[in-house]
Amino acid sequence: MVRSGARWSQRRRRAQMRANGPREVFSRDEIGDRDDWTCGICWGRIDRHLQDPEHPMMQSLDHIVPIARGGPHTRANVRITHASCNTSRNHRTSDPAPYEARYRLARATASYEALLYWRS
Ligand SMILES: [Zn+2]
Repeated sequence: MVRSGARWSQRRRRAQMRANGPREVFSRDEIGDRDDWTCGICWGRIDRHLQDPEHPMMQSLDHIVPIARGGPHTRANVRITHASCNTSRNHRTSDPAPYEARYRLARATASYEALLYWRS
């Protein structure tokens, strides 16, 4: 069996999540309301009405202790972040400094908006 590709990593991720203990069921809106729609990494505002999944400032749920490192899928272990801030953190256990995250977010947003401009 070839253990590669997106399908396999998805199965591994699900298996990993089962191994991390009980899962809670909650929505992104619930966590966003709890966190006052403030990004847990750069401390910037998050637009809860933004509906563009490719936008760097899109709302994203971040596992504080990553799933890959044994973190559970529970309210206590998640926070609301920008998609770009979440990606720039990746699988590190520590956060980038807020100014670093804000700088990356601004750059990602500028290049995304330029891309939208050239597409239109
Ligand atoms: Zn952010």
